[in-house]
Amino acid sequence: MKSFDVAIVGAGPAGCSAAISLHGSDMSVALIDKSEFPRDKICGDALSPDVVNQLNMLPLETGSMFDKFEEKIWCKAVRFVSPNFSHADVSLNQRNITGYVSPRIDFDQFMFSQAIKSESVTPILGSGIKTIQKHSDGLVIELANGESIKADVVLGADGANSAVARILSEDKMDKNHHCAGLRQYYEGVTGFSEDNAVELHFYKDLLPGYFWVFPLPGNRANVGIGMLSSYVSKRKPNLKKKLKDIIENHPNIKDRFKDAKALEEVKGFGLPLGSKKRNLSGERYLLLGDAASLINPLSGEGIANAIRSGRVAADYIKSAAADYSAKSMKAYDREIYRRMWGELRLNYWIQIAMRNPTLCNFIVKRAIGNALVQDLVISGFSAEQIRARFKR
Ligand SMILES: Cc1cc2nc3c(=O)[nH]c(=O)nc-3n(C[C@H](O)[C@H](O)[C@H](O)COP(=O)(O)OP(=O)(O)OC[C@H]3O[C@@H](n4cnc5c(N)ncnc54)[C@H](O)[C@@H]3O)c2cc1C
Repeated sequence: MKSFDVAIVGAGPAGCSAAISLHGSDMSVALIDKSEFPRDKICGDALSPDVVNQLNMLPLETGSMFDKFEEKIWCKAVRFVSPNFSHADVSLNQRNITGYVSPRIDFDQFMFSQAIKSESVTPILGSGIKTIQKHSDGLVIELANGESIKADVVLGADGANSAVARILSEDKMDKNHHCAGLRQYYEGVTGFSEDNAVELHFYKDLLPGYFWVFPLPGNRANVGIGMLSSYVSKRKPNLKKKLKDIIENHPNIKDRFKDAKALEEVKGFGLPLGSKKRNLSGERYLLLGDAASLINPLSGEGIANAIRSGRVAADYIKSAAADYSAKSMKAYDREIYRRMWGELRLNYWIQIAMRNPTLCNFIVKRAIGNALVQDLVISGFSAEQIRARFKR
């Protein structure tokens, strides 16, 4: 049986950033993923300026490698469209920051190739984890192909349906803090703004979810809708039909799709929102990214926090001096929420307000027009920074 200091389960942004951050630590790392790379991930593909910040903080010159990475399109604004069709643009240009949109099949391959640059990282691909057994001297991870791997500690970065969380944690999915999302790639959508804004359309029967259209390289677009899972359970909407209906009939949208062509069938996936605190650790394990439910409850963005949690997890493992007791690991939970809870909670408050169409119109018109709220909504701030800015 192969033995490692650290087993990272999941090679998405969270798992790869943990592997990249462990570079130079002398720890042997298994980077396990059920898929072979490159692989697709259902997503809006938007990389906020905070993602760029996070990449700049990773070793192996990840930030400058991302500058050179070509499969992305810049975007210099975020457009919020309210139920009454008025809109507010948050300019990234004015703040001297840039966001990007990059198909996840390309962006995740970029992150994966950074992660395996480190000689201490061994990729183990193509077979998902089946069980994890706890022993006094470590964990034994059994893969679906029958292979077993031993590790001192496991980082669960295996996404929204995390097997690591299911096996090792008692927390269950809460529909009130979960969103259902659909994505479809298109070619030939027209009407994007000059600054390539990513567009969030808050239409009445999706609130607080929204319909999105994001520009992609090569005249393509990422189009989709998201709705709270508790609303899906209650109202039982046919989300695929809803998406088709908006594209074909919505007065604000239909003309822009007149000559557009769908490049794939509609695909769906879940978004575990970070609007409720969870247990993120236990004896010999930490949860990262979507496995830890760290998605922004208003925008649905989770890539920045996935990368941030990968960095925090790696720093914690390096400083833990091999003390992986449940009590000691709680320091990771505290650090994650110290950095992220202020922003997650603020976005949750706005999400609650956006459930009401009248308030949603007001928020888009007045609050999104406010410079402070704009800063808070688009940028990743720590709880302390948010408190300090509100005080000011
Ligand atoms: C429809 C939709 C739209 C979204 N739009 C955006 C957006 O525009 N911008 C944004 O920032 N965020 C967006 N998100 C959220 C974003 O996709 C996630 O927050 C992000 O992918 C989290 O990264 P991760 O590394 O935690 O998990 P993932 O990216 O999901 O990676 C998990 C990895 O684990 C692997 N894995 C899963 N199970 C196992 C197993 N049993 N064994 C081994 N490996 C396993 C998977 O193959 C995968 O490679 C969206 C999500 C959805 C569903």
